[in-house]
Amino acid sequence: MELAKKFSVQKPSGMIRVFQAIEKMPDVLNLSIGEPDFVTEPDIVDAGAKGAKEGFTHYPPLQGFLETREAACAYWERHHGFKASPDEVCISVGGLHIPWLAFGALLNPGDEIMLIEPYFTPYEAQIRGNGGVPVAIKTREENNFAPAIEDLRAAWSPKTRGIILNFPGNPSGRIATLKQLEEIASFVEEKDMFVLSDEIYESMIFNGKKHICFANIPGMKERTLLASGVSKSHCMTGWRIGYVFAPKNVINTMCVLSSVQTYGVNTLSQKAAAYAMNTQDEKVKERAKIFGERMKAVEARLNAMKGVKCHSAEGAFYLFPDITGTGLTSEEFTWKLLDEAHVGVLPGSAFGQSGEGYIRIACTLSMENLMKSMDKMEEFCKSR
Ligand code: PMP
Repeated sequence: MELAKKFSVQKPSGMIRVFQAIEKMPDVLNLSIGEPDFVTEPDIVDAGAKGAKEGFTHYPPLQGFLETREAACAYWERHHGFKASPDEVCISVGGLHIPWLAFGALLNPGDEIMLIEPYFTPYEAQIRGNGGVPVAIKTREENNFAPAIEDLRAAWSPKTRGIILNFPGNPSGRIATLKQLEEIASFVEEKDMFVLSDEIYESMIFNGKKHICFANIPGMKERTLLASGVSKSHCMTGWRIGYVFAPKNVINTMCVLSSVQTYGVNTLSQKAAAYAMNTQDEKVKERAKIFGERMKAVEARLNAMKGVKCHSAEGAFYLFPDITGTGLTSEEFTWKLLDEAHVGVLPGSAFGQSGEGYIRIACTLSMENLMKSMDKMEEFCKSR
């Protein structure tokens, strides 16, 4: 069958090629996976099953159950002091669905969206798929991979409508400072832009840092779509529950778009997510501690390797070491490491040009397996 022309030129991304290669190698220590290795807590599973037994087996309300939206509001108020009402929330099919709905609701053909490198790769296709034009903004490690205002100014055009922020960042694991975020806030206010702030890693912050909710900056709630979900915080990737806080008119339009795509989000997952957001604060904290310990240990190992420099983890579960000292590009490092040492990482260049010279390591294996993979990587670097 003939595919649409747009697919005839599409090649698998750098990330997909690595994933496909790893799938064929059963003995790989896989540090490329961006999801917690912990399974969902049993009482959360029970809450989903209880929903089924209680008869929540029909189509859900399009915006999501009130109970789930209320739980999202309560979670963000409790953890980050962010206040929203349930009519400012829409439940989505994972956090990944949110940019699609957001750009569908907000973009006219040719509208430009600033995409901060290194970026979570699906954003780019999501902008294009909704008629928008991604404008990549380069960043530097010494600025925590946050954008410099001069670079935003230089990239701005009358077609610029919005910007995507993602702190803690995938793949960088870095967070922006309050000062950096405040400068971005003044810029978006001056240029009358919207902000899609993907804060899905809000629960994983290390080294005494605190998550800064962008929408809490004065004047920003009105122009921000705050995206998150339970995939990372509550180890519920497979349940596919995300949510977004945004002004009511945007939420209403996102719901209309969502309704023609999905007819609402899985009822049992919504029940489980509501329970999870209301009851698991201690577990969320415990797991963040475990990730923090893993990151610290892996960072120390990386910094002892020839040609590798690694900044301290600040958030999410990713380390993003600079491997330029090995004389290899990101892709060369990734593929040779996979071939020779059977350790899977992702090339930083798969996340935009500013990622060149870096690799992404997800600390989503046990400490024992992380240390085994560090032994192998150390040998690999020694032989360069
Ligand atoms: N945003 C970012 C930055 C992510 O890293 C991910 C998952 N890798 C998502 C959104 C999507 O998460 P989910 O759809 O599982 O909620």
